[in-house]
Amino acid sequence: MTSKIAAGIAALILMGPAIAAAGEESSAQLGSVLKRAKQASDLHMSDEEEQKLGEAVSERIRTRYGVVQDPAIHKYVTLVGGALAVASTRPSLNWRFVVLDTDGVNALAAPGGIIHVTRGALSLMKSEAELADVLGHEIIHVTEKHTLKAIQKGTATKIAAEESGAGGAVFGELVNKATNVVMAGFGRGEELEADQKGIVLANKVGYDPSKLAAFLTTLSDRNKASTEKQGLFASHPEMKERLEKLDKTVKDQKLTAAATLETRFASNVSYKPVAITEIATVEAGSEGLAGGSSAKPADTPKKDGEKPAEKTEEPKKKKGFGLGRLMSPSSGGEKSSAETTGSSAARGVDSERNAKGGSNPNVVAVNVTLNDINAFKKEGKLN
Ligand SMILES: [Zn+2]
Repeated sequence: MTSKIAAGIAALILMGPAIAAAGEESSAQLGSVLKRAKQASDLHMSDEEEQKLGEAVSERIRTRYGVVQDPAIHKYVTLVGGALAVASTRPSLNWRFVVLDTDGVNALAAPGGIIHVTRGALSLMKSEAELADVLGHEIIHVTEKHTLKAIQKGTATKIAAEESGAGGAVFGELVNKATNVVMAGFGRGEELEADQKGIVLANKVGYDPSKLAAFLTTLSDRNKASTEKQGLFASHPEMKERLEKLDKTVKDQKLTAAATLETRFASNVSYKPVAITEIATVEAGSEGLAGGSSAKPADTPKKDGEKPAEKTEEPKKKKGFGLGRLMSPSSGGEKSSAETTGSSAARGVDSERNAKGGSNPNVVAVNVTLNDINAFKKEGKLN
């Protein structure tokens, strides 16, 4: 079910137990993590525990938006993302890249290295460098453990206090919290960190680091051109500062990589963008991350002994997540937006986030090895 993006990575994975989903074992383990968190006011997770959490968060996201059932697009995105991941500070994670089946523009990083990008986001990109810069941003959310830090800052104590000894309930609650953080987006500090470190990472691999700004500008224009209701990002005060910071990073750190690879991108990605006003949305509250009627748990392949995902309460009042957050990091300082709900939701409907999704949540397996990544880099004259 997973794409092992590098031989070295596969070897490391084999050293540990295979990733289980939200079964009793992982629940008990995470329950003990929370006990430690309560004792130490800190949340420490092993990579294995983090990946189990991310797996459950990803399942929620995949169930909400569906997965494009096309191995070719998954292989391409995995090659680009894999080239970045192996150059990141956490190359041994079991990195996976998932293309979500929705016109809404978004990208979401689940803990442990599961990066999601929507069809809608791919449709707005003009080059492989734009994709690499966006994936770089998401990869940094994982390598810097932004979700875990947000949980630690905001809710760990509360979860620990609610711990009742029922491992499954504790795990479900932790998945709820993590999913809410991922969907709501991170705080301004985390977004700026992901911007800056993300383009440094892309540059290291050989991709033009100025293309994140290019993509954000495209996204900003898209929102400007839409109706006032959709003007969430149109004149967001942080946008200018953010683009300036990206530009400054390129200059200060002398980032000179120049590969853009428009032709290769165009030969792999042919999605057509859908205007915000034309995007089919689901009623807020009618289809939650735990899945509406469109995706039955039975559609998801289960490993032996694996329990179906628990139904959870609808994450409410979450808005502007993912690329929405990427567009407009909270101006509320370092606080996670998971704690600062309420502002942007009042300003308009977020069609990107509320976009209708496909009905098939199944992972599309692709086999990408380190050799494949090296060949892909060589073909693109990357580093
Ligand atoms: Zn982000």
